[in-house]
Amino acid sequence: MATRTRRPRPCTYCPEPDADACVRTLRNEAGGAHIYAHQVCAAERGVTPLYLFVEESAPGAPR
Ligand SMILES: [Zn+2]
Repeated sequence: MATRTRRPRPCTYCPEPDADACVRTLRNEAGGAHIYAHQVCAAERGVTPLYLFVEESAPGAPR
């Protein structure tokens, strides 16, 4: 599994913290919030993540 970051991100599909993917973003007019989920939770629901969180200390990690 990918290394977890310490920043808490709730999963939209389950009560566990530390979601490691973003599955949805709201339009700016709707608040622009990003909706997070675990990769496994998204996969179970057939949702393709928009982007994944990578280890922030990894060199050359794209942002
Ligand atoms: Zn989850």
